[in-house]
Amino acid sequence: MRVVSGIQPTGKPHLGNYLGAIVNYVKLQDEANAAGGECFIFLADLHAISQPHDPAELTRNTREMVATLVACGVDPARTILFNQAQVPAHAELQWLLNGTARMGWLNRMTQWKDKAGKNREGQSVALFTYPVLQAADVLLYQATHVPVGEDQKQHLELARDIAQKFNNDFCAEDAPLFTLPEPYIPPAAARIMSLRDGTAKMSKSDPSDMSRISLTDDADTIMKKVKKAKTDPEPLPSEEEGLEERAEARNLVGIYAALSGKTSAQVLAEHGGQGFGAFKPALGELLVETLAPINARFVELKGDEEALDAILARGAAQARERGIPTLDAVYKALGLVRG
Ligand code: ATP
Ligand code: MG
Repeated sequence: MRVVSGIQPTGKPHLGNYLGAIVNYVKLQDEANAAGGECFIFLADLHAISQPHDPAELTRNTREMVATLVACGVDPARTILFNQAQVPAHAELQWLLNGTARMGWLNRMTQWKDKAGKNREGQSVALFTYPVLQAADVLLYQATHVPVGEDQKQHLELARDIAQKFNNDFCAEDAPLFTLPEPYIPPAAARIMSLRDGTAKMSKSDPSDMSRISLTDDADTIMKKVKKAKTDPEPLPSEEEGLEERAEARNLVGIYAALSGKTSAQVLAEHGGQGFGAFKPALGELLVETLAPINARFVELKGDEEALDAILARGAAQARERGIPTLDAVYKALGLVRG
């Protein structure tokens, strides 16, 4: 069992990242260790340069993201925690896989369409080829399980397509080079939506801070954001069918369910008939209860830059070593001569 996943050190990590991805990093870290496997979690700093960015901010965000992940329960003693920039094999393998990935495949990626919007010509080449780097990230370590939110499912399917085509084109039938990675998407909370628009996913890159709950928000900010969250005037229904056509209400119920370990149906059985004037404070309290200990650990960890850098350096050394066999095999399969 090889667990591999990444998160971009851009902006502040939010509730969607936590429930959609980070909670599963922690769960799979435990499962991988119990099964004698390994868990790799990386900060996708090479992905972060695909969009306009401030270099000093990227450095600061990288350290803050390490502190956040550790505060959430990612344990550097049991998970190989590192940043891509210290493991050149990610960029190398991306180039090698660029020969296999097809333009048409990348053109179909919805994240590319969403992020590029109407201005495709003005985007960086990196934003377009981003999913090939993502494929390299997981294929380099022969990942079996990739914990991600729903929005990354398409990219993971692309990674499988690239792996499959490479295996077909360059390997003997009985000796495929790449393992086909499986997405590990949480059944609930796979897609947490914006607090301002129930049809858009909660994102670090949303310009409105009110659209998301950041993992480092204090209690007052959390309560304020929940109270201001967009809703409709109807009370909550008692059954799930009543949430159809009510994207904002469905999102808040889904968040409550994910945080309390219940199903949406159970939450509605308890809160059906309640108006948002009563449900929002209950949700706010649940959020504060979950996030306060994370926030406290984050504040403690974030001041010690040396310790954070040491975690990354150690993780990167382990990752560099683990990536060697695959990278060597890819060069060889492609017929590239190395001294
Ligand atoms: P950006 O807007 O910069 O792309 P992001 O919020 O999408 O940021 P990423 O770093 O791209 O965050 O993604 C990290 C992980 O969090 C991925 O596994 C992704 O699927 C998951 N994730 C992101 N947003 C959500 C969401 N709203 N609900 C559930 N999971 C999410
Ligand atoms: Mg994203």
